[in-house]
Amino acid sequence: MSEINIVDAPPGIEGSGFFATSMDKVIGLARSNSLWPLPFATSCCGIEFMATMGSHYDLGRFGAERLSFSPRQADVLMVMGTIAKKMAPVLKQVYIQMAEPRWVMAVGACASSGGIFDTYSVLQGIDEVIPVDVYVPGCPPRPEAILDGFQRIQDLVRNESGRRRNSDYYKELLGQ
Ligand code: SF4
Repeated sequence: MSEINIVDAPPGIEGSGFFATSMDKVIGLARSNSLWPLPFATSCCGIEFMATMGSHYDLGRFGAERLSFSPRQADVLMVMGTIAKKMAPVLKQVYIQMAEPRWVMAVGACASSGGIFDTYSVLQGIDEVIPVDVYVPGCPPRPEAILDGFQRIQDLVRNESGRRRNSDYYKELLGQ
């Protein structure tokens, strides 16, 4: 987004960059309250996510009522469960198919670090194959913890510059 010089702006907001900065805030606010999660649930943590979507905990209160099972129409990849090494390329492919901007939650010990499955066939954390924005601890994490993690994602979305993404870091990590 190009910088725009504000002429005759009120005191305190004059100068270049004001418009771009404010637009970032508006876009961040809108995005953070209209996220479409993609639940990538492979085992028991996925059951806690079902409770999180139910009427008692109601993730929909945070604007995330609409789950997306198409990576191309999702903003937040929520990985819940044990990820076998054979599944890792699939997870990576799903992430690559999501459009920018995109965010990732590792929900539970297995997704975050392999959890109790310290074995040759299990990925020891999804951050070995895709970047992770928020880790939610627990085996399994209770719905309150998942909601807390989701709100941390919202904070990131709200406060991050629209220009942060598509960095060389991500391209290198994904081999793009
Ligand atoms: Fe199951 Fe615990 Fe792993 Fe979640 S963290 S998938 S509850 S073993």
